[in-house]
Amino acid sequence: MTAPSEQQVLDALRTVRDTASGKDVVSLGMVSGLAVRDGHVAFALEVPRARAAEFEPLRRTAEQAVDALDGVLSVSAVLTAESAAKPAPPPPRGHAHGAPAAAKPLVPGITNIVAVASGKGGVGKSTTAVNLALGFAANGLRVGILDADIYGPSMPRMLGISGKPNSRDGKILEPMENYGLKCMSMGFLVAEDTPMIWRGPMVMSALNQMLRDVNWGELDILVVDLPPGTGDAQLTMAQQVPLAGAVIVSTPQDIALLDARKGLNMFRKVDVPVLGIVENMSYFCCPNCGHRSEIFSHGGARLEAERLGVEFLGEVPLDIVIRETSDEGHPIVVAQPDGEHARVFRGMAQRVWEKIAGQTQRPAPRIVIQ
Ligand code: ADP
Repeated sequence: MTAPSEQQVLDALRTVRDTASGKDVVSLGMVSGLAVRDGHVAFALEVPRARAAEFEPLRRTAEQAVDALDGVLSVSAVLTAESAAKPAPPPPRGHAHGAPAAAKPLVPGITNIVAVASGKGGVGKSTTAVNLALGFAANGLRVGILDADIYGPSMPRMLGISGKPNSRDGKILEPMENYGLKCMSMGFLVAEDTPMIWRGPMVMSALNQMLRDVNWGELDILVVDLPPGTGDAQLTMAQQVPLAGAVIVSTPQDIALLDARKGLNMFRKVDVPVLGIVENMSYFCCPNCGHRSEIFSHGGARLEAERLGVEFLGEVPLDIVIRETSDEGHPIVVAQPDGEHARVFRGMAQRVWEKIAGQTQRPAPRIVIQ
């Protein structure tokens, strides 16, 4: 059996019609980056970012139409966001040494994905990610959190969720849920004391599975808690996930040591907008008298953000209740919703949402200060 030619694949795709316009996907110019190698076929369908879920049935139909051709061994069709500079879809299966894919297939049902990152570990990245996610939910959004910190997953503990996710069909996992957040973490899938040696490709396949093989449903925003640092694994993740933007968490010391700048550069390298910097453990709040001590040179992040041309999203103090509530599986935004810390996180969530909604649904407003 001979493998099909590109022309034959395109002819098969001409039978696939978009129901709204009645036209076929080839005439509509939706097909991009078609690659056919030894019977393995890959292509992308370009669709508006915010309407990816609507196009999922069309993607499946297109895949089936090509699969029905003689000589086809595998088909991989992905939805990508429409863009002037057409991204290339991933290389066909069976072509292990292909160039790294530039395409970032959208995840149907998820409108925006935002990463939370840090230059190094222990700065409160996961604490910020979970409270920011709860802040989005408190602001009325449908939210999920993906714990991509596969070296040290902390979401099961922080959200007080235990047990294992179910799967109805043995392929797609149902997300876990608490406080109105849908959650998936490597921590649910492997025992906490299992040593994990993740190599680049395994990191990616774990992340991709948690992103695409989970029944997230319709989400306005998915928060991805990235592993700390700016190494290859983080860079690959930032490159492969269709991120609307990233939030960088840093402490005052880490700002001084320029770790936060590395995070910033990493996202710039892969063209992901940095939505802002959060300064965590910004100052110390005495649990007894409420006195505020600026043990580290407070305010450095704001100045550094200004210098780097990135928005300063806000500051969170070093406060024992933040640690205790996270460790007890009841983060501060839900534990003390009327408190000052919850207000700060909700405010940051509001600002991040304004920025990404501005990017995806309408041109960003220009703010002119006179
Ligand atoms: P990372 O994800 O950067 O490694 P975590 O969010 O896991 O960091 O935080 C590390 C530890 O610091 C946790 O025990 C957490 O509860 C605590 N922590 C984080 N932020 C604060 C804060 N603002 N005040 C008090 N403790 C904090």
